[in-house]
Amino acid sequence: MNTIANAAPAHVGSEPLLLEVDDLVQRYTLPRENLFQPAPQVLALNGVSVQLTAGKSIGVVGESGSGKSTFARAVMALETPTSGSVRLLGRDLHRLPAGELRRARRDFQMVFQDPYGSLDPRQTVVRIVAEPLTAIGRVDHAEQRARVAAVLKQVGLRDADMDKYPHEFSGGQRQRIAVARALITQPKLIVADEPVSALDVSVQAQVLNLLEDLQDEFGLSYMLISHDLAVVEYLCDEIAVMYLGRVVEQGRPEDLFNHCAHPYTRALLEAVPRPRPGRDRQRRGAQVIASQSKWSTGCAYAERCPFADAHCSAVAPVARSVGAGHYSACHHAETVMTLPPLAVEV
Ligand code: ADP
Repeated sequence: MNTIANAAPAHVGSEPLLLEVDDLVQRYTLPRENLFQPAPQVLALNGVSVQLTAGKSIGVVGESGSGKSTFARAVMALETPTSGSVRLLGRDLHRLPAGELRRARRDFQMVFQDPYGSLDPRQTVVRIVAEPLTAIGRVDHAEQRARVAAVLKQVGLRDADMDKYPHEFSGGQRQRIAVARALITQPKLIVADEPVSALDVSVQAQVLNLLEDLQDEFGLSYMLISHDLAVVEYLCDEIAVMYLGRVVEQGRPEDLFNHCAHPYTRALLEAVPRPRPGRDRQRRGAQVIASQSKWSTGCAYAERCPFADAHCSAVAPVARSVGAGHYSACHHAETVMTLPPLAVEV
């Protein structure tokens, strides 16, 4: 079990908790390869625990296949986990009756990666943006238009954009529409899965600036999923690094950048240039296999780790405190922390 949250009540202090994820496990059964063997399974989440204080934001990073999107779907209650719980403002989302969950969705909304695929091309902007409101209950037509107009303004679009269709907008503007849709219910938490990675680099900064402004204005919390440490560093108070379904390091951005305590985080910091999509997909396959391989009794990262020894391949490290609010699941965390910081440009 990843005990990051269980080991870490101190940094939460007396602040009210917005999100408590406890020992989340998600196991998928894959199609059987032949009749005589059991269906293979993937452990997409292997005991993930995090806590988030109201008004703070957390970034979840890791390469493709590490379980970030599965984690996001479980937090959004789009998928039922195999075990574990997700509590938002004290309510256990996966145990709420359907009607209550629908109403609770007011408090948490999602922005997806692809602003082209996530907006229905046959709907006008007003209908797209109002959809989370109408999913909760009836809203009269005039109020719907007024609220959509207000939220479009907040994301830098105009009233007149309301009656247009998604294809009339650029990628950056479409992502603004997606953000407007997430904002319309005045949520406390927005889960954003790779919100800028499909955008041109020149537009990415504009969307990140918008997310930052909204955070300041409304005291929003983000759970920001990204393969890119620089993106989460920009917006988040806390970063959780995932590897093969586990959180292997968690701390403030400055902890990770200056006193990184897990060799995998160090490898992510070193990973320049950023992975190309083709290379990403290849790695994903390798990880699925790695997760079920001989290393499953020990540290999942041992196979790739320059510090791995016999102890690492025999005993899975449990997350432990390596500094105030800083946790690592590595037997060699202290050694990694003594290495000089990497000159990373962020
Ligand atoms: P990431 O978002 O970090 O790329 P994912 O959460 O998409 O990672 O995937 C984690 C692992 O779970 C991968 O091995 C992936 O192939 C597997 N996986 C994700 N969704 C499913 C699913 N619906 N069925 C089977 N396997 C899945």
